[in-house]
Amino acid sequence: MRVQADLVADLRRQGITDERVLAAVAEVPRHLFVAPGDEERAYHDIALPIGRGQTISSPWIVARSIAALGPLTDGRVLEIGTGSGYAAAVLARCVGQVVTVERDAELARRAGTILSEIAPTVDVRTGDGLELAGELGPFDGIVVTALAQSRLPTELVGALTPDGVLVCPVGDDRVGTLVRYQHGESVGLAEVTFVPLVRGTRD
Ligand code: SAH
Repeated sequence: MRVQADLVADLRRQGITDERVLAAVAEVPRHLFVAPGDEERAYHDIALPIGRGQTISSPWIVARSIAALGPLTDGRVLEIGTGSGYAAAVLARCVGQVVTVERDAELARRAGTILSEIAPTVDVRTGDGLELAGELGPFDGIVVTALAQSRLPTELVGALTPDGVLVCPVGDDRVGTLVRYQHGESVGLAEVTFVPLVRGTRD
């Protein structure tokens, strides 16, 4: 049976070097965030279905996205797309404060229950992250875990502090590029697949 340390070894082999992120992956019990019956697959570097048409992201994409924020030890960070809550739990061990927003009320409720045990400082909100970002911001970092269609959402750029960093996958339907935006410049980091970023909420 694989455990967290096996994931950390996989991530190192795939070029993740941020020790803070690797330590967080070593600590967070991913088997508590997957669907019942999938626990044995939790420590493989794969995305898995979590119901409601959504997935828990692969550990590599979680690690790559959080590492791309840079060192925000004291920073306030927004995650858009709580999903299972796994990435929020990893993020909470890497930055100062985490607010995570999920548009699907059922997923937000489930994630909130697990996060209250595993990462109790995380603030879980139900809503459209694109709408709430401005209201809840400004943020030192924003990490989006669903694919923005065609371009970086301007609302998110507007919700950053002057030195703030936005990490967001951008593309078409489910396939695109993980983009890091800071100080008006965008850099493509990797080719990725994600569920789409959708406006509005779901009960
Ligand atoms: N970070 C998650 C993976 C999330 S999958 C994890 O670690 O498990 C992407 C999630 O983004 C889905 O749950 C989807 O409902 C949510 N989502 C999509 N568009 C959104 C939006 N505009 N605001 C908030 N959440 C959104």
